[in-house]
Amino acid sequence: MRKTLIAGNWKMNTDRASGTELAKAIAAGAGEVGDVDLLVSPPSVYLSAIADAISGSPVALGAQNMCDCDNGAFTGEISSSMLNDVGAEYVILGHSERRTIYGETDEIVNKKTLKALEAGLAPIVCVGELLEERESGKTADVIKTQFEGSLAGITEAQITSIVIAYEPVWAIGTGKVATPEQAEEVHADLRRLLTERYNADIAAQIRILYGGSVKPGNAGEILSKENVDGALVGGASLKADDFLAIAKAG
Ligand code: PEP
Repeated sequence: MRKTLIAGNWKMNTDRASGTELAKAIAAGAGEVGDVDLLVSPPSVYLSAIADAISGSPVALGAQNMCDCDNGAFTGEISSSMLNDVGAEYVILGHSERRTIYGETDEIVNKKTLKALEAGLAPIVCVGELLEERESGKTADVIKTQFEGSLAGITEAQITSIVIAYEPVWAIGTGKVATPEQAEEVHADLRRLLTERYNADIAAQIRILYGGSVKPGNAGEILSKENVDGALVGGASLKADDFLAIAKAG
């Protein structure tokens, strides 16, 4: 019922030539990964170039961030209408790097999420606990707070356009992957929160991705878990073979 989504987050990596080559290689291999949705999220300055590179393929385009305001005097920001204009379908919001380095709060993530939905973009809303929060037994509380804050005011009609990504901060870019059981526990909690807020039918439709050091070697086990509906992949999304291998494991 939920189609697996393998989403690449290129972060601040690649340039026009290497990004185009990477996107073309992913597009060329997309036909061999089975019934899985593929998404690449390049740096915003390359969105148009990557849109051209994946044109005609089933690979979707996503942005890594956007402004919570409409067009106007917001130097350095990018609006939802600009993302529409360059063909982005998804936007990653509330990534832990945005939260920790740039001080994005649940309130900001919520405003961006509502704005993205208004523009017809599919937000990938990230939540995840810090290492000290996990070690002090606060994971469930942190996830609940981020869920409630980031998704405040999202209606029943809107929630099915959203993808949630559980990304334990201690597992991002560290090589430390959550065990499949640790991931499943949080994903099941998120599904329960969705059921309580909406209903079981709606909760069953929403994709919850796992992110944090996903590689071809560990993807199969994590993706086999009942409530894990895909992966948000950082480092391994920069190599077409690795990214496609993760997708094949999905
Ligand atoms: C990420 O940036 O969302 C991520 C999960 O990174 P990595 O796969 O490198 O841990």
